[in-house]
Amino acid sequence: MLMLMRCVKSFPAILLFVSVIPSTHAQKSPIQIVADLSEAPRKLFHAEIDFPVSAGPLTLISPQWIPGHHMPSGPAGSFTGVVFTANGKPLEWRRDDANLFEYHLTVPGGVTTVHAHVDAIVTRRISQRMAALEWEALMLYPAHIPVKDIPIQPSVKVPAGWGIGTALKPVTGGDYPVPAAGSITKFAATTVEQLEDSPILTGLYFHEYSLAPTIKPQHFLDVVADAPEDANLRPAVLAEAANLVREADALYASHHYGEYHFLLTLSDIAGGMGLEHEQSSDNGVGEKGFADDVHQLAESDLLSHEFTHSWNGKYRRPAGLYQPDFATPMQGAMLWVYEGMTEYWGNVLAARSGLKNPQEYKDVLAATAAELDYTRGREWRPTVDTAVSASILRGGNPAWSNWRRGQDYYFEGEMLWLDADTLIRKMTQNKKSLDDFAKIFLGKGGNTGPLIVTYTFDEVVRDLNQVVSYDWATFLHDRVDKINPHVDAAGLAQGGYKLVYLDKPTKSARMIEASEGRRGGGVDCWYSIGLRVGADGTIADVLWNGPADKAGIAPGEKIMAVNDKVFSKDEVLEAIREAKNPTKPVRVILQADSFVSTVQIDYHDGERYPALQRVDGTPAYLDDIIKPLTTPEKAPEQKPDDTE
Ligand SMILES: [Zn+2]
Repeated sequence: MLMLMRCVKSFPAILLFVSVIPSTHAQKSPIQIVADLSEAPRKLFHAEIDFPVSAGPLTLISPQWIPGHHMPSGPAGSFTGVVFTANGKPLEWRRDDANLFEYHLTVPGGVTTVHAHVDAIVTRRISQRMAALEWEALMLYPAHIPVKDIPIQPSVKVPAGWGIGTALKPVTGGDYPVPAAGSITKFAATTVEQLEDSPILTGLYFHEYSLAPTIKPQHFLDVVADAPEDANLRPAVLAEAANLVREADALYASHHYGEYHFLLTLSDIAGGMGLEHEQSSDNGVGEKGFADDVHQLAESDLLSHEFTHSWNGKYRRPAGLYQPDFATPMQGAMLWVYEGMTEYWGNVLAARSGLKNPQEYKDVLAATAAELDYTRGREWRPTVDTAVSASILRGGNPAWSNWRRGQDYYFEGEMLWLDADTLIRKMTQNKKSLDDFAKIFLGKGGNTGPLIVTYTFDEVVRDLNQVVSYDWATFLHDRVDKINPHVDAAGLAQGGYKLVYLDKPTKSARMIEASEGRRGGGVDCWYSIGLRVGADGTIADVLWNGPADKAGIAPGEKIMAVNDKVFSKDEVLEAIREAKNPTKPVRVILQADSFVSTVQIDYHDGERYPALQRVDGTPAYLDDIIKPLTTPEKAPEQKPDDTE
């Protein structure tokens, strides 16, 4: 994922509009694809696909590089039961020896349609009561043609009684969005590029909520859950989601969709998800993810992040991350804009909308800044390399990940864009801000339907200079391309705050820990002894060059006892407190594979947890940034703004 710098000089030239209307050179009649999700509870999808063809060689392909994943995660390996026929007779096929996503066939003379049957084994985003279809799970289409030029008409069949949420336009009316049992819902023809960007959410417990109906075009929140009560979102959540629509409308002042659908699953089985699309987003949280303020805080920027991607990432896309097919490798060097600026706006919009309160915003920002500052891998790896390497950094074992670095371009980007926002405010006495940049950069061309308009580094610099003149190229290069041993905390300082460490966690940190207790319940002593420990004592990660590392402790080892007491979260914290007496180290009995050893951690500064502290006498731009731009139609449920 290297940045592809296309040299462009003037505004009209940089607008590479990618039309959704197939070119005149493309095939005329659309591929017909019917996705059969009626066996979703059995973890199977099926597709019947008809391709208009002419006699001769035919190569069909399925997507490999998936937009939003930024990696070659196409599910071709899950395709099974693939059978091609022509006029009812089987056609031989052979997979390409090098590109395993390609099927080679020969179309006999006189044949005008090839039919494909595909089964897909599905393991994610699916339960007994719901399914989310990202179309790459079933799609095949002719290879070596730009996917924007391939017309396709989708249809879907869902289990009886299940509702459908999607940004696709139904052309069969009547019983939509809950079709009659056994019926097939047909959607308007689109392109392979757009269909890949238009998932379908379906489920038994289905609700479609209209959000902020005075804002045009329309916005919908389509919800499915494993239990009927979970699909009934709290009035406060619906009010905050409507605020989000109003706030994004005020911030971006343009839109690039016909109508927008937030697709949301609440399920402990279907799993977490946040995948952006231009006219919708695929969002997944636990079954109680929005049931109360404690659970909501951990998910508070999910909808705002994915919604922001409609502008930043989908409409405006780094040139290296746009490929005319889904087969050419993507190049991620500018993900600190695509994801990093989205991370920034996602959190700001969540605060402006009330999805989290101002103190929660600041507490979470403190946690982000501290996490980055203690990521030791920043001593050898610049942020740009986390973006270039995105496709090999996602997921994996947490062991030594602070020395390796992860997909840090998200949070490094958040700190960078906070720095830029507060710097603009400082230089203009708070008359201008990054809001102005967002309107320029993300709103080019005004309101449009779904389009992809690519950009380069130079355009980012030019648009920042339209807001306020500054050496933005150096500003960005210094933060992205250079080795920076410490986090970019300038945005906090310019915003009127500083990062400090207290002897107890912020209320928000305790809430997030409580909401994740079911999954974890361990102990986080990262900023003291340098350990993250699971509920059973197993060490998830060790801070590189921290006290536990210096004591020789390694990830994967298990803490059996602390200061002669059997391991528990409380005993670990008690031992850290006791060690403030400098004569007493933290004594740990460890199990490593089948061996046991005792080590002493030489650490005497007590518990430490990050927080933001106001710097009196400086402008509080951070507080200005998260003030709502609009007046809520309906006040959301008040959350206590605890400043402890
Ligand atoms: Zn994102």
